[in-house]
Amino acid sequence: MSPEELALITDLHVDGRRQGPGSDADTLLALALCRLENHRRLRVADIGCGTGASTLVLATELNAHITAIDFAQPFLDRLTDRAEAHGFSDRIAPVCATMEDPPIEPYSLDLIWSEGAVYNMGFDAGLKAWRNFIKPGGLVAVSEITWLSDNRPRSLTEYWEQAYPKITTATGNITKLERAGFELMGYFSLPESSWMDEYYTPLLVRMDDFLDRHQNSALAHSIRDAEQSEIELYRNNREHFSYGFYIARAQ
Ligand code: SAH
Repeated sequence: MSPEELALITDLHVDGRRQGPGSDADTLLALALCRLENHRRLRVADIGCGTGASTLVLATELNAHITAIDFAQPFLDRLTDRAEAHGFSDRIAPVCATMEDPPIEPYSLDLIWSEGAVYNMGFDAGLKAWRNFIKPGGLVAVSEITWLSDNRPRSLTEYWEQAYPKITTATGNITKLERAGFELMGYFSLPESSWMDEYYTPLLVRMDDFLDRHQNSALAHSIRDAEQSEIELYRNNREHFSYGFYIARAQ
């Protein structure tokens, strides 16, 4: 992806509450499945936090210090503003870094959170790498694109084999978790509302302003077209794939 394209995609998403499918209810359900005893202050990292939808829920619910990591500084700037507005500046530390090499001490975290982001490394590579930042007995809660059925149109399989060949079923991802040194504690798949109401509909509402801001440039139009085809693909195939939320304990 060219730097110009990345800058435009960031600009399209910077005003969003979230940068991928999910909802506060999903974050709360995943947190309940963590069954955390919240007596002492926890050390948490939210990796690929975007503008911080999940980070703010975690800061509200937990007695925790949260390192919020993303490589897009404009997203972190929004998160900083939102954290200040909620009075969470002392509990959320935004850090601009890559998820491949985050500035985290080995075996220092009680919990790694990551919604809609680990695919950038691949589920297995991400979990193996992040395992080394989590204390033994600590937790990971991560959402990952997941096949909901083995019975699906060939064209859909072909699309995803191009876009993200590592996509697999929940069973496949649970095996990857176990191989990376985790024990599954909970799983659920995101409902349609977490895609349409929470993510795609607000994105479409912002689209005209985005095109105006970029004087209807060819690149802005191609980004709009790509988002529209992604939404169509989801609408037509929502029974076949979703994000799965995996909650697991480091052994
Ligand atoms: N967790 C947020 C954002 C999901 S979108 C939410 O659910 O709303 C994926 C996020 O990962 C984006 O914010 C993007 O900037 C970030 N990202 C992508 N590749 C990354 C990398 N290699 N290192 C760090 N952050 C990355």
